[in-house]
Amino acid sequence: MCWLCDSGKPQLHGNSQLGRRDFLKTAAATGLTAGGLNLFAARPARADDDRDDPPEDSGRRGRRYVIRGGAVMTMDPRMPNKGEWTQADVLVAGKKILAVGPNLHAGGAGEIDARGRIVMPGFIDTHHHQFETALRSYLADGVLINDGSGSRASERTYFERILLTFAPVYRPEDVYISELFGGLAQLDDGVTTVHDVSQIHHSPQHSDAAIQALFDTGRRAAFGFFESAGAAILGTNPGNQYPQDAPRIKQQWFSSSDQLVHMIMGGEVYLGDASTEQSWKIGRQLGLQVAAHILSPFGIRPIMDALAQGQGGSNHDIGIGADNLFIHMTGMSDDAWKAVQRVGAQVSIAFPIEMNMRHGMPPIVRMLSMGMEPSLSTDVEVTLTADFFTQMRSAMNLQRVVVNQMILDSPNGNQNLPDPRNWELPQTAVTVPGPFPYWPTPPADVPPPLATRDVLRYATINGAKALRLEGKTGTLTPGKEADIIILDATAPNVFPVNNVPGAVVSLMERTNVETVIVAGKVRKWKGRLLGVDLPRLRQQLEASRDFIFAKAGVAQELFH
Ligand SMILES: [Zn+2]
Repeated sequence: MCWLCDSGKPQLHGNSQLGRRDFLKTAAATGLTAGGLNLFAARPARADDDRDDPPEDSGRRGRRYVIRGGAVMTMDPRMPNKGEWTQADVLVAGKKILAVGPNLHAGGAGEIDARGRIVMPGFIDTHHHQFETALRSYLADGVLINDGSGSRASERTYFERILLTFAPVYRPEDVYISELFGGLAQLDDGVTTVHDVSQIHHSPQHSDAAIQALFDTGRRAAFGFFESAGAAILGTNPGNQYPQDAPRIKQQWFSSSDQLVHMIMGGEVYLGDASTEQSWKIGRQLGLQVAAHILSPFGIRPIMDALAQGQGGSNHDIGIGADNLFIHMTGMSDDAWKAVQRVGAQVSIAFPIEMNMRHGMPPIVRMLSMGMEPSLSTDVEVTLTADFFTQMRSAMNLQRVVVNQMILDSPNGNQNLPDPRNWELPQTAVTVPGPFPYWPTPPADVPPPLATRDVLRYATINGAKALRLEGKTGTLTPGKEADIIILDATAPNVFPVNNVPGAVVSLMERTNVETVIVAGKVRKWKGRLLGVDLPRLRQQLEASRDFIFAKAGVAQELFH
């Protein structure tokens, strides 16, 4: 049976009972005639396919090329057509977007054929620890801190193993290769901007290695100058110059704002009030954003309350401001949230990691209830992928599981969630009028379920705002730099497209990321990163991994 057929809209099935004449009649009625609606048809094979190279010298001053005929989703609703076209072109000159719209005249500019593709801004990750790339998947079962339960999740834990065992043995060359490899991997995934929360500053050489790798990756990045992991607890890492090395780093690496990498000051508040006092003051003196992990498992709730009242730090004179970027924000008080909103601080949520590693409930419903929105962060690949499609789907689905349950439960208890061990409707469940007695109208104070455009906004322009980069990236607005991804919508996991934002968020993954452009320069072309010697980098990363495990005295057990 077919619901659409039964309701009088005949559909074409594999062994269609419809005759050809019936099909043509239906097709004509729906405008689906031969030659029409072939937007997402595969491109015809071209004789010169092997000469189908990326535009020459892309990103260079004066070089122009046009991305032709894709479904364009600019993520800028102020543009004509709300910034969305089923078929349009993007004209790039040098590192900037010159124009976006249908049938652009591009003179003799080079062309990228984007028929059957979706063209949108690159993704922006506002919190990622790239130095951990060598340790990928090691902590796939672990939580944040050993809880003493003896469960598998407590055997290998983030605090004890990653921060206190592995991180302290890193050499500058280990920092470099992990940072580079992790960055290239995300470029391959369409993530054109990252905030790298490097907590591996055992010496100025370690810091320089991390920064060099961010520049060498060739994507947009905020270098987050955080602590020397483990130093405060173990009393080791004698070369550690955090936070007082910040002015040297800023001066040496970040005196220009016209480059792909900029600097953020790490201001962790769980390192003690003296460290907060020093790091926040240095960061603010240098005019940098100050970022910090804020989560209740590390005892931060009262610290955050003091900061919200302007009484943080050892002199009780540090307060939060619009220059803060807070990561996680799980388990914080009402007052802290109100202060975050009042001052206009940025919030980055790592949905999958927070769900997995016991950070606490990602605070999305609270943010939406207050009229706020987050950016997205991948956090650590020791436990979960840094893939951004996973980010968007996790954000959307976590929010939906919570609000859907709040709505279903609303007639029974003022949106108090039921005992999470037993989410069944109570025996005495209150019913509502209408044909579906257990399908209440959503209460006014429950945010609507997130839609695909919402999480796309989190993944792009919200990330740009969170890193103070909205003047440069986050949307395909003419005048911004060209950070563009071209997604293959003819691939078997996506075709046929019936909704462009939906196809990207609900169906796509890394293999659909066909072309990646950063500041006008093509970095991935037809599925392959350009100018990257992967076999050599793999060798270096493997050697680094072997050193780190050996030095830390940890056995490599692939089937632990
Ligand atoms: Zn983190």
